[in-house]
Amino acid sequence: MDHRLILELLRTDDSTRVNGLYAQADQVRRDTVGNEVFLRGLLEISNHCRRNCAYCGMYAGRKLQRYRMSENEILDGARRAVAFGHGTIVLQAGEDGVLDGKYVAALVTKIRNETDLAVTLSLGEREPEEYELWREAGADRYLLRFETSNPELYRRIHPPGAGLDMESRLEHLRILRRLGYEVGSGVMVGIPGSTWDDLANDIALFADLDLDMVGIGPYLPHPDTPLVSEAARFPMANRQEQVPNDEDTTCRVVALTRIALPRSNIPATTALSLINRVAGRMHGLARGANIIMPNITPIEYKALYEIYPAKADSIETAEIIHRVIAEQLAALGRSLGVGRGDSRNWTIRRNTCKTN
Ligand code: SAH
Repeated sequence: MDHRLILELLRTDDSTRVNGLYAQADQVRRDTVGNEVFLRGLLEISNHCRRNCAYCGMYAGRKLQRYRMSENEILDGARRAVAFGHGTIVLQAGEDGVLDGKYVAALVTKIRNETDLAVTLSLGEREPEEYELWREAGADRYLLRFETSNPELYRRIHPPGAGLDMESRLEHLRILRRLGYEVGSGVMVGIPGSTWDDLANDIALFADLDLDMVGIGPYLPHPDTPLVSEAARFPMANRQEQVPNDEDTTCRVVALTRIALPRSNIPATTALSLINRVAGRMHGLARGANIIMPNITPIEYKALYEIYPAKADSIETAEIIHRVIAEQLAALGRSLGVGRGDSRNWTIRRNTCKTN
């Protein structure tokens, strides 16, 4: 798909064309990754962070009650993921230096020894040596979104500092790939100052990076962040160019990404399920997605993991979420994936390129 066609499909008002896009993405999904939906238990293990990302409610400079789960609490989380039938546990946190190389490596080893879970890490930009230690300890996947493909916008939302530019973020993704991780990245849709052209470039970059997993969610403004207070100061030259952070645009990006990367794993993200509480997740699944990441963080910590405002789902227990997902999958006629659910993109790369 060329840039012009992607732009057209992102922007068209013609509902027949949009429905055609959604139907095509759903067909490609069925043909390539099938009807199974894999669940990844998401455990938010720490909200300490050394970065000051302008969009995130956990940025270092914000006054916020901080927590870090103990090793036992994390292992309990892994056991809960097993009990729910999840094939994967995702350990996510702010960029928390206390979760250092050795500590996380030992944790990964324990989870791998005690369970059959695949382990996904999402701990921010870390030292290459740490990525390597964790991979050797048995970590399977790493999630690190590039957030936007526009280097200038990237700089604007990530305050200056050594190595914190877009190029270095991409370098981290390349390092992870070389280490043999299944590599996931993604963007927020509708960041203030992002244009349709940027969004089309985001999709092209997913394909260029040949991502194994792609997370796409709407930008949800957090009132206590610099980006919200400064958004008014970045008026678009042409307001027509500002991408909305809405459900339809997010779903179009999901659909186009499925077509661009047919064998990748694409979640119906929590952020998408929050802008349309009734049907957001179902729409994502019907328009290209094949993964759900149910939040299994203990309720007392969940509300403090405030990447976006007091997350609307923060009072929902893992049990409730699990029941809702089961009902939604039944309504869509989709089956629950059994096992790890590795990305087919990654499996094929592994088999054709043994040195990887
Ligand atoms: N510290 C880790 C994990 C961050 S949270 C890291 O940097 O990778 C995971 C994702 O949440 C981020 O990559 C970002 O895309 C998303 N996120 C953060 N703030 C958000 C907001 N206000 N609205 C929507 N998504 C947000």
